[in-house]
Amino acid sequence: MRFDIATLFPEMCNAILNESILGRAKNRGFVEFYCHNIRDFSDDKHRRVDDIPYGGGMGMVMQCKPIYSCWQYVCNQLKEKPHTIYMSPKGKVLTQQRAVELSQLDNIFILCGHYEGIDQRVLDVIIDEEISIGDYVLTGGELPALVLADTITRLCDGVLASDECFKDESHFNGLLEYPQYTRPEVWQDISVPSVLLSGHHKNIADWRMQESLKVTKERRPDMYNMYTKGKE
Ligand code: SAM
Repeated sequence: MRFDIATLFPEMCNAILNESILGRAKNRGFVEFYCHNIRDFSDDKHRRVDDIPYGGGMGMVMQCKPIYSCWQYVCNQLKEKPHTIYMSPKGKVLTQQRAVELSQLDNIFILCGHYEGIDQRVLDVIIDEEISIGDYVLTGGELPALVLADTITRLCDGVLASDECFKDESHFNGLLEYPQYTRPEVWQDISVPSVLLSGHHKNIADWRMQESLKVTKERRPDMYNMYTKGKE
């Protein structure tokens, strides 16, 4: 899987993409990350990429040309059009289900906005979908792009030790995860649930399922209702 991220702050993105599980996934060849500085595609001698909004109003708007040239540069490299996503608070809110679907693709181009946003015309020409990471507004698309790249990367083949690592996790099957415990067995007079020490795999799986249902019902009745309806 190859990610191309178009941003005004490539160093900010690289700092995250080179660390921890993402950095290891890249070094082991499971994913490729390329961060492109949109300013490199500006014709302006000061590398300017924004201008005032038509119709007036606060802030600046990112211009079509540098973004389109950056996208074309990537299309030429790939010799095909990547699935192109604009991170935007106006997009569909990201879900685990969508991340699973996107993890099946070979190439994803992620566009990060800044300032007041991006000239609508280039979005209309290059964007396949807009994705939001939640109903709030951030200063730029870099953190959302990194959230998206992170959640997709950990689903790609070989990145985690096994599929079990994410199949039991919150949101994968429509439930939240059961509580986790590690050593020591007793901490501040609080013991680990005895079933987890029993070595009885079926009892452990049953307990985890019951805890998953309980926590989901308490914290996310919307998810619980959806899950139980699907089982009827
Ligand atoms: N004026 C825009 C609006 O009201 O919809 C917000 C622009 S925001 C200050 C600048 C950039 O941050 C956006 O172009 C987008 O790329 C990114 N961004 C902000 N909030 C986001 C969110 N919740 N999800 C994804 N991207 C977001």
